[in-house]
Amino acid sequence: MADLDSEKLILGKLTIIITTRCNLRCKLCCESVPQYKPFKDMTLEEEREILDAAFNILDRVEILHLSGGGEPFLHPLLPEMIDIAMSYSDKFDKFMVFTNSTVPISDKLMFTLKKYRKNLLVHASQYNVRPEKEAVTFRLLAENGINHRIIKYFGDEQDFGGWVDFGNYRHLDKSGAELDKQFKNCAVIRDMHGNWRTRDGTLHLCTISQRGNELGLIKDNKDDFVDMLDKNSSVQEKREKLFRLTRLQGAAPGRAHLKACEYCTGDHGTDDASKRHPAAEQEG
Ligand code: SF4
Ligand code: SF4
Repeated sequence: MADLDSEKLILGKLTIIITTRCNLRCKLCCESVPQYKPFKDMTLEEEREILDAAFNILDRVEILHLSGGGEPFLHPLLPEMIDIAMSYSDKFDKFMVFTNSTVPISDKLMFTLKKYRKNLLVHASQYNVRPEKEAVTFRLLAENGINHRIIKYFGDEQDFGGWVDFGNYRHLDKSGAELDKQFKNCAVIRDMHGNWRTRDGTLHLCTISQRGNELGLIKDNKDDFVDMLDKNSSVQEKREKLFRLTRLQGAAPGRAHLKACEYCTGDHGTDDASKRHPAAEQEG
């Protein structure tokens, strides 16, 4: 059992998924948003409950991130959600909001972004799918002095060199050793040390795990996540489970991977250019 008295549970990034609706229909969306019916948007009460639970279990988060499994700027209460997130600012170092840059920024949202402009980063994707809308977003962010980073996903020098195909949650027949290797070499593990995320209070190590679980496409995977809202287990038990997940790479041979890896191509982080695809190609 882990000695958590002497160990701090610090996550590099914790993403809170506030909506699963999107205005785009990207073919290789890693959340498979266009293929499935959206869940209800997160409410303010749910956001508070999840953040309370998370910061009961975690000692600290380096980046707190409001995002989608969809487009967060579509959430009508995003300004209020940012206010709530900022009320936990003693628990995280940086705050980030994501956008695909194609949804108009309301006056109310701009007011809130300006209010926190010193402590907030807007991560604005540039897919070149609706370039006029993207240009308006980038101009408004710049004119209002909002700290933002434009991530270019097309043409030369695009981020990640293109998207990868994570598959469609079909179970792939791989050995334990192959899955261990896949997990170890996955960019989520190798480069990001986990892409921790939650929408419903279950905390997952990566998108495939989180989305596959909520859609019921990955079953028997209780070891892959921590149910932060579970009333039948203690904070200490949740910490121990999460601690084990942060050290999964050191598990016994054949078990050093997630159940979710059995359903994933493992192409995230590949050096093979033939496995890279144009970002954000739209479904017809
Ligand atoms: S912008 Fe594209 S990749 Fe992002 S959530 Fe929407 S459909 Fe998925
Ligand atoms: S399922 Fe496994 S290989 Fe796929 S993204 Fe998650 S950790 Fe990486």
